[in-house]
Amino acid sequence: MSMRIVLMGPPGAGKGTQAKRLVDKFGFVHLSSGDIFRAEKAGGSDLGRKLAEYMNAGKLVPDDVVVEMMAKAITAADSRGAGLMLDGFPRTVPQAEALDKQLSAAGKPLDGVVVITCDDEPIVSRITGRRSCPKCGRVYHVKYMPPKNDKMCDDCAGTKLVQRLDDKEEVVRDRLKAYYGQTQPVVGYYRESGKVKVVEVDGNGSPDSVTASLAEAVGALG
Ligand code: AMP
Repeated sequence: MSMRIVLMGPPGAGKGTQAKRLVDKFGFVHLSSGDIFRAEKAGGSDLGRKLAEYMNAGKLVPDDVVVEMMAKAITAADSRGAGLMLDGFPRTVPQAEALDKQLSAAGKPLDGVVVITCDDEPIVSRITGRRSCPKCGRVYHVKYMPPKNDKMCDDCAGTKLVQRLDDKEEVVRDRLKAYYGQTQPVVGYYRESGKVKVVEVDGNGSPDSVTASLAEAVGALG
C-alpha cells in the first residue's frame, strides 16, 4: 500500500510497538525519528553527541536539525515506492510545515494522520517498565510484554535488554510536557489545514485491541 501516513501519540501510548505491527500488516517503510536519532547517537558522531544532549534530558531536538535529518530519510525511503509511516515526526508545527513543503514539492502529500490517545496515568508505568533489545530494537515491558527468558531478547540469543536513559521517570515527565506543549498543536494544525484526514484511536486498551482499531483506521484512509 503506498500511502503516506503520520502516526502520533504521547510517549508511552504504544506507538513504537503498534508502528511495527502496522508495518507488518501494510508493508509501510517505517521511519521513526527517535530510532534514526538513536542510531546516530550510537555511531558516536559530533551530530550524535549533540542529539544526545537533548534526548537524554527528554527535550526536543531543535527543528532545523530534525528537519534536515528527516528530509534525507524521507527522500531515501520514498524512492523505494512502498508506503511511508512517519513515527515521532513531525513533533512541532514548524516541522509539520517543513514536511508539507517537502511532500507537496514531491507531489506526494500525506494521506492521513493517526493519533493514538492515552491517559496520563498509565503512561508513566508503561514507559518506566519498557525495555528494548540493543541489537534488534524489539521492545518489551517488564510487566505487560515480558520476554520469555528474564531480561534477555527472545530473538537475539544472549542479548540483555536495556532501559533507555530517557525512559527514567523524571525524564518521562519532561517528555510528556513537551508532547502536550509542542506536539499536540500539530494535531490542530492538520485538522485546520483541511487537507489531510485526522483520526484518533483510543490507546488505553490492550495492545491487540489497539492494533485492531489502528488497522481499521489505517485501512479506511486508503
Ligand atoms: P522517541 O523515541 O520518538 O520518543 O524519541 C526520543 C527522543 O528523540 C525524544 O525525546 C526527542 O529528544 C528526540 N526526538 C525524536 N523525534 C523528534 C522530533 N520530531 N523533534 C524533536 N525531537 C525529537
